[in-house]
Amino acid sequence: MQIRLGSFFAVLVGMALWEVLAPRRSPVSSRAVRWANNLALVAVNTLLLRLVFPAAAVGVAIFVDQQGWGLFNYYRLPGVVSGVLSVLALDLVIYLQHVMVHAVPLLWRLHRVHHADVDFDVTTGIRFHPFEILVSMLIKAAAIVVLGAPVAAVLVFELLLNASSLFNHGNVRMPVKVDRVLRWLVVTPDMHRVHHSVEDDETNSNFGFNLPWWDRLFGTYRDQPRAGHLAMTIGIHTFNEPRLVAWLPGLLMIPFVGRISDYTINRRNWEPPAGPQR
Ligand SMILES: [Zn+2]
Ligand SMILES: [Zn+2]
Repeated sequence: MQIRLGSFFAVLVGMALWEVLAPRRSPVSSRAVRWANNLALVAVNTLLLRLVFPAAAVGVAIFVDQQGWGLFNYYRLPGVVSGVLSVLALDLVIYLQHVMVHAVPLLWRLHRVHHADVDFDVTTGIRFHPFEILVSMLIKAAAIVVLGAPVAAVLVFELLLNASSLFNHGNVRMPVKVDRVLRWLVVTPDMHRVHHSVEDDETNSNFGFNLPWWDRLFGTYRDQPRAGHLAMTIGIHTFNEPRLVAWLPGLLMIPFVGRISDYTINRRNWEPPAGPQR
């Protein structure tokens, strides 16, 4: 817990400084309001997780290890090998989960909270509805049980995922050449920003949070936004009311707003949007 909190705050402060010193885009809404409310949501989520899942993912891994459950407890491989394979497998699960929450209408309702942010910065990276956090935790726990993932690997994965989520949502500028090289190793802010576009085809691209390879492998990779990083619009077409997209009560209400299935795989209307919709 202390290692997680320590690394979380270190990366958060580091990214926030980088955003002040070399911002990529100028914000379209009040940063003070967004920061206060996005961080308040993080506090709600942290408290909720402590109540529902006090042991967290690492606790699940310790339990699984004691029980001798899972693939890597049946097939004993060298620690490094099962560790690396576990981190890779968990990252693939998170990628597939991200595709799923975009595809299934009810789950998209939860995930809209992350996408309704009208700006894209380090606090967007930790802005999720509490229910999505719980769904995500259950899926991760199930993956750890099936894998029998080593405790150290789960801890490393948690730290990596936390740090990379803060990093790849950063409103930070870096040389294009650096971004090009870095993109082969980790999801960069320019790569993930495409995913936060209001355009449907761009939103449904670049689902990776940590490793960039899954998008290239599964065909969901998109290089750049059509409008360019400075001119593109961030958010969801119909979600621009500050009361809903910036303030905590609105963020908690987003899953319950509007009719069911007006987006995602079973939507009725596949015409290009004529006006504001979805
Ligand atoms: Zn998404
Ligand atoms: Zn995101």
